[in-house]
Amino acid sequence: MPGGTDQTLRPFLWRAERMYPDTEIVSRTHDGTERYTYDEYGDRAAQLAHAMDGTGVPEGERVGTFCWNHHRHFETYFAIPTTGRQLHTINPLLPDEHIQYIVQNAGDRIIFLDPSLAEKLAGAYDEEAFESVEQFVVMGAEVPDVDLDAVDYESFIDGHDTSYDWPVVGEETPAGMCYTSGTTGKPKGVEYTQKMLWSHTMATMSPQGLGISDDDVVMPVVPMFHVNAWGMPFTTTAAGAKHVYPGPSPEPEDIATLIEEEGVTVTAGVPTVWLGLQEYIQAGNDVDLSSLESVIIGGSAAPKAMIEWFDDRGVTVDHAWGMTEMSPIGSVSRLKSGLAEELSYEEQIDKRAKQGLMVPGLEFKVVDDEGEEVPWNGEDFGELHIRGPWVTQEYFKRPEANEEDFEDDEGGRWLKTGDVVTVDEDGYIKIVDRAKDVIKSGGEWISSVELENAIMAHDGVTEAAVVGVPHERWQERPVAFIVPAEGVDPDDLEAEVMEMLGEEYPKWWLPDDLIQIDEVPKTATGKFSKKDLREEYADESLVEGQVPEESAPDDD
Ligand code: AMP
Repeated sequence: MPGGTDQTLRPFLWRAERMYPDTEIVSRTHDGTERYTYDEYGDRAAQLAHAMDGTGVPEGERVGTFCWNHHRHFETYFAIPTTGRQLHTINPLLPDEHIQYIVQNAGDRIIFLDPSLAEKLAGAYDEEAFESVEQFVVMGAEVPDVDLDAVDYESFIDGHDTSYDWPVVGEETPAGMCYTSGTTGKPKGVEYTQKMLWSHTMATMSPQGLGISDDDVVMPVVPMFHVNAWGMPFTTTAAGAKHVYPGPSPEPEDIATLIEEEGVTVTAGVPTVWLGLQEYIQAGNDVDLSSLESVIIGGSAAPKAMIEWFDDRGVTVDHAWGMTEMSPIGSVSRLKSGLAEELSYEEQIDKRAKQGLMVPGLEFKVVDDEGEEVPWNGEDFGELHIRGPWVTQEYFKRPEANEEDFEDDEGGRWLKTGDVVTVDEDGYIKIVDRAKDVIKSGGEWISSVELENAIMAHDGVTEAAVVGVPHERWQERPVAFIVPAEGVDPDDLEAEVMEMLGEEYPKWWLPDDLIQIDEVPKTATGKFSKKDLREEYADESLVEGQVPEESAPDDD
């Protein structure tokens, strides 16, 4: 059989270019707002493909990006996988050591990076970890003055042919890659095959997914280094819709301006982003949201008050749940037909604040501690297991994680999500706890175990436990409980521990509070009882309010 009929990204690019040549791609960049059409996009993607061929990096090899959301990053989204290479989006907010591990583990051959992130990458650069990297390409027309041997993107693609004979690439070929932070150990790589991205695109484009069509103007605020901006650049292209990219570190004002000026109909991001927009509007800034039809909120739970706030402005919140391992969208919380008539507004909000209904194509089950499936009664809870065409079957080069996080039966392979959920009679899942010991702050992971180990490395500490506590702005923030060694001055200890952590981790990883206690409470099996610590923290009203701005990730 000749190839070319597989489920791959290539037809999406072909269709957009041929059927929507005049539809725009708009992007806020380091140099202002730039715009062009799918027609020009196709030309530049072809030039990039030729430039990639010129590097000698063959099909099947990984190419990294270290970039915000803009049109050049989007050009890599098709030009890299559609030539059979693998696009590896690297999260620039991670601690340097994680970046080193990720680049080394992936074996990236080329890294595209933003000028504003060049210093960060140069700081993380380590000869051994970056041994595989042959070339750095800076996303712009010039190279900033940093200690990296780089060329600028415009020169890199300049002069190449604007048409390209896109090859036949098999559907099982890895097309994308993203790392997720695990409970222990280093981040785990998830590979996205062509087929995973194709099926995720088709499912999320449908009305039961995110419902994107060619009259939409789609602005992903969720970074393109987070699971391909939740797949939206692919979905938007497949639908032939207009793209809007908010560029480096967008502020609420930038987001508001783009919504107004570009007529954005669908946007997406973590709750922290929308809290920022709310505050901006509440501070008296007049923002016209009339074009906006839907805000996709995910990554952390969408607060009920946020859903209501958007309702009051005629904007529907599509509350979505997903994971890096799932390309990433799993469920969307929208009212099933008929439910709006049956339920009071308050009941509807309760429903919509749940993580919702699985997108068609996925199967799930909820399993209790004894391995039994729990009934769908909205009360019994267990760990959510999931499988489907866009759910990964393994972690990249991590056999031990594969043993732990997947389970096979005759129907296929389940991913054990680590999310603890209930399911109601209508099939809506609701996350009630997290079995994995990690903290999610403003959409970014912090490993409590890694912080604990770092703190316990201090001579004056005998035990340390780090827990996530609820926070209005960042959803969760880390708080550390430490047991000082005998004879240690408590004031000095706190300052020393914070200084030590500050040397190793970005500011947003540092605990908001260090609380000295006599002993860490333990469970019956001798593990730290984080539940008790969280309760103790809440009971004693130790929460001190807002964290300083600089202690959180600055993207979203
Ligand atoms: P990531 O792999 O970084 O996308 O994180 C996935 C995890 O984020 C999930 O396993 C959940 O723990 C959490 N998460 C994602 N979406 C939601 C949501 N809508 N509500 C609550 N938690 C969420």
